[in-house]
Amino acid sequence: MRVTVHTLGCRVNQYEAEVLAGRLAALPGEGEVHVVNTCTVTALADRKSRQRVARLKRERPGAVVVAVGCGADGAAEGLRRAGADLLVGNRDKSRLPELLGHLLRGEPVPRDGWPSLDEEALPGRAPRVRALLKVQDGCTVGCAFCRAWLLRGPLRSKTPRAARTEAERLARAGHPEIVLVGVNLAQYGEDLPERPRLVDLLGELLEVPGVRYRLSSLNPEGVTDGLVALFAGERRLCPYLHLPLQSGDDGVLRRMGRPYTRAEYLERARLFLSRVPGSTLGADVLVGFPGEDEGAFGRTVEALEALLPLNVHVFRYSPRPGTRAAGLPGRVPPEEVARRAAALAAQARRWRGEVHRRFLGRTVEVVVEEVRGGSAWGTSEAYLAVEVRGAAPPGTIVRAHIVASNTGGVVGVIEHRKESRGD
Ligand code: SF4
Repeated sequence: MRVTVHTLGCRVNQYEAEVLAGRLAALPGEGEVHVVNTCTVTALADRKSRQRVARLKRERPGAVVVAVGCGADGAAEGLRRAGADLLVGNRDKSRLPELLGHLLRGEPVPRDGWPSLDEEALPGRAPRVRALLKVQDGCTVGCAFCRAWLLRGPLRSKTPRAARTEAERLARAGHPEIVLVGVNLAQYGEDLPERPRLVDLLGELLEVPGVRYRLSSLNPEGVTDGLVALFAGERRLCPYLHLPLQSGDDGVLRRMGRPYTRAEYLERARLFLSRVPGSTLGADVLVGFPGEDEGAFGRTVEALEALLPLNVHVFRYSPRPGTRAAGLPGRVPPEEVARRAAALAAQARRWRGEVHRRFLGRTVEVVVEEVRGGSAWGTSEAYLAVEVRGAAPPGTIVRAHIVASNTGGVVGVIEHRKESRGD
């Protein structure tokens, strides 16, 4: 069977698509299957998921098209209308090979409970140089704008032991960096009998030699003193945190249901930046949430200005059916949402350029991800995009001296090359 997995959305989705592609590679039989790993975080994500399904049905008329993941749970009707032959929600995603087998044999497709995350693992080498490793799923925070906590089922964490086994395989396969992903990493371990915290997981993972680790995104309440101390003392933990802010205004944060205040966010972010050498920050911001006025938006910009983030992901609020926020008064007109989003994105480019300039003259360790135009391109510990002049194959780590910067990234020259194991 020829199986192609298409994916949209977040890094948890990307990881799951990689696991699925590995598991479906050996699906027996003749024919063609396309699996679309959908996303429903915004109205735009819903549309892209539907369009991908419809295009595949049009262009590959004989193929079976399966829509899986958040869209299959939260926006099923549109995907069905787009022509999906089978909808498989998050609960059954990891059982897709078995479910597809039933469909392809013309048998009824059975469904039952949520599987343990320990059963979901990459078999060996991951498709990307900086391999993703999913350690957590589900969320019980219940933010007013979000559907992930409604669609992703109960809290589930991969045990430190199972995560370590997977990390050992990835390190043996030659991955120099592993990115830990989860729906809400701040809730890691809450569902496990021994209630390990994120620091315990990292402690276990650091037992695996020859690989560095990065956290994909962490809510500010997850930035504990213990975590900061661990990052401060361990060079193999990449000194970059992506901390979703969403808004820098306490009133908006309250209406969003976010479990922190502006002051708490700033305090956690500053603690990390001040204690962890060479560290940088990223943030998500949701612009135009109901009731966000010009003052509230200004406070968001000010909060970020005080921290000088390397990355800001700007999302425009759009009401999602089934969320509490969809019924809130004080809708911001779409053209005003667009104006604020563009203004913040322009500021973010300026902050990014300033962070890049701070790295001029420093030496960074770059994981090389691709080679193009006579240069190697990759990512530094602090998450800077680095163009390294001179040849270095993907999968290697090079020490680069930063000689130039722009808003897109920095340019470095090689000081020393360290071959990653397995390459
Ligand atoms: S913390 Fe909030 S935004 Fe994040 S997954 Fe949970 S409910 Fe959604």
